[in-house]
Amino acid sequence: MKKKILVTGGAGFLGSHLCERLLNEGNEVICLDNYFTGQKKNIVHLLNNPYFEMIRHDVTMPFLIEVDEIYNLACPASPIHYQYNAIKTIKTSVMGAINMLGLAKRVKAKILQASTSEVYGDPIIHPQTEEYWGNVNPIGIRACYDEGKRCAEALFMNYHRQNNVKIKLLRIFNTYGPRMHPHDGRVVSNFIVQALKGEDITIYGDGSQTRSFCYVDDLLEAMIRLMNTGDNFIGPVNAGNPNEFTIKELAETIIKLTGTKSKIIKLPLPEDDPTQRQPDITLAKKELKWEPKVQLEEGLIKTIYYFKKVIL
Ligand code: NAD
Ligand code: UDP
Repeated sequence: MKKKILVTGGAGFLGSHLCERLLNEGNEVICLDNYFTGQKKNIVHLLNNPYFEMIRHDVTMPFLIEVDEIYNLACPASPIHYQYNAIKTIKTSVMGAINMLGLAKRVKAKILQASTSEVYGDPIIHPQTEEYWGNVNPIGIRACYDEGKRCAEALFMNYHRQNNVKIKLLRIFNTYGPRMHPHDGRVVSNFIVQALKGEDITIYGDGSQTRSFCYVDDLLEAMIRLMNTGDNFIGPVNAGNPNEFTIKELAETIIKLTGTKSKIIKLPLPEDDPTQRQPDITLAKKELKWEPKVQLEEGLIKTIYYFKKVIL
């Protein structure tokens, strides 16, 4: 029997790849999105599939449907977009979680939350393990996202403890790949678009801050494996590529791979920008039998190829 799966945020970067993959695996997929940062273009190629449905809806409003599984991805992920309307971002994370958990409870669906490495804030423990409680500024400009996602994790745990809802918590570290929005504002898409257009490459701060970049295909493999684990394993579990780079190294790699003549310029570092980030993936290796396969240059080459088609 085909599984009926709801993907919130399904027209976004990760969500559209997820919908496609779940359809290819023989499931029926319902994609729900309000198109805030997502695009119809990301899913238009799926619309002819009779087992795919697209619904324009905002997760801050209740939504009823009979499904077996829910992947809750709806939420802007780029700092520029989530800070654009900070109150709405908190509502999306918190009310979206309440609405989707209520639905999961009612129809007895299993539900996975796309949580984030941002729950660790500007981490003092390095690399970050799931036991670490984080270092988050609750009143800073990133709090709308960080605290929204932390509250969503708390809600997931409480629906699990109080109502036996089957939950899965995935803490996603910086993920990149084709279908990122060219004006999304995140570092990989910004640098690639700037390089391809021959514009200045904008490093915020001195570029010594680090991130660990995971290619989209690897991340989705972890996400689907987590959903398919037994009821006893709920996470939270980190998913990301543990290879850590400075932002300066990322800029230099993209300059090399694109062969651009763009120059690096330095702009002010945004408030509360985390100085370091690297996932400890010991738990994912053990419980999901998963580790990323695509390394940075290989993933960047595929992403550059995509952006060339989109913007040139
Ligand atoms: P994205 O911005 O491309 O996708 C988010 C999608 O959610 C968009 O299609 C957007 O229109 C939709 N959305 C936003 N608010 C909504 C609302 N109120 N109702 C319905 N739909 C809404 O971002 P992404 O990178 O694909 O991220 C997907 C999820 O994964 C997010 O929850 C994000 O927090 C999480 N995540 C992503 C990363 C990453 O590096 N890509 C890292 C950590 C966590
Ligand atoms: N960054 C940068 N230039 C850009 C965009 C981002 O130097 O044009 C930096 C940003 O300050 C941060 C890192 O790259 O240190 C990753 O930023 P992103 O917005 O991709 O995600 P974050 O991990 O901060 O949520």
